[in-house]
Amino acid sequence: MKKAVFPGSFDPITSGHVDIVKRAIPLFDEIIVAIGENAQKKYLFSLEQRMEWLEKVFEKEPSVKIDSYEGLTAHYCRRIGAEYMLRGLRNASDFDYEKTISQLNSIVGEGLETLFLISKPSFSHISSTIVREIIKGRGDATPFLPPEIKIKF
Ligand code: ADP
Repeated sequence: MKKAVFPGSFDPITSGHVDIVKRAIPLFDEIIVAIGENAQKKYLFSLEQRMEWLEKVFEKEPSVKIDSYEGLTAHYCRRIGAEYMLRGLRNASDFDYEKTISQLNSIVGEGLETLFLISKPSFSHISSTIVREIIKGRGDATPFLPPEIKIKF
């Protein structure tokens, strides 16, 4: 059974994240979209809210499961028996960062493989960081969010 973890903060989930997961569905038997919680990090949205959004966005996808974890992503993958990690690449900065992380994860995760999908051009400008800035500035982030998510202003 080919099981992949798509890890992230999803603070909030964007259309870019959704596109990566949907394109990966035919490649794996199961994809676990997992929120990595770091006690030191401040999030704009609560873990409960972020989980609820993920559940809603992927409710019609039987092979997509939602979860959260603490600690190292590589350890989490091993714990749940996932041999693959899924990541999206938007640009060269993503690549530089992700390359090192995937090499480290292969060691820490004892052979854990990272599979990268290149972002579609129509999503490569979207990041959760930018979306949070728009929301904090009371702008309308709807164009960057999946249709299931409505954030009130
Ligand atoms: P992190 O908390 O590690 O920054 P994010 O929650 O922002 O993670 O993103 C999780 C994954 O989704 C990462 O692999 C990231 O590169 C990818 N991603 C984020 N935004 C996009 C996008 N617009 N298009 C494609 N992939 C994306």
